[in-house]
Amino acid sequence: MPQVRHINRTDSSGRIYCCLRNKVVVLDKEHRSLFCAGCRMYAGDAGGLGVECLWEDVRPVGNPHLVDDPEAELRSNQTKKIPTKPAPPGLGAP
Ligand code: SF4
Repeated sequence: MPQVRHINRTDSSGRIYCCLRNKVVVLDKEHRSLFCAGCRMYAGDAGGLGVECLWEDVRPVGNPHLVDDPEAELRSNQTKKIPTKPAPPGLGAP
């Protein structure tokens, strides 16, 4: 699965969606020093507009994936696709 570059630009309240914490957070000094500084997903500061996070994404998103609405991104990330296997022969629907 490809590593997707998520370019999280802060919204009008300075918030972004954080994959590590799986929540919307204010991207302030505290979050950067307590979480981003030690995060393996950290991939840049989005040109000073937010934070870039690199992680495997099961959703059909572009790469890079530009995020301007952290609440929508949070909701979208709560719907995980579960891979399904075809039923073994004889166990399928009639
Ligand atoms: S770098 Fe890590 S801690 Fe910082 S916003 Fe991205 S996922 Fe969250």
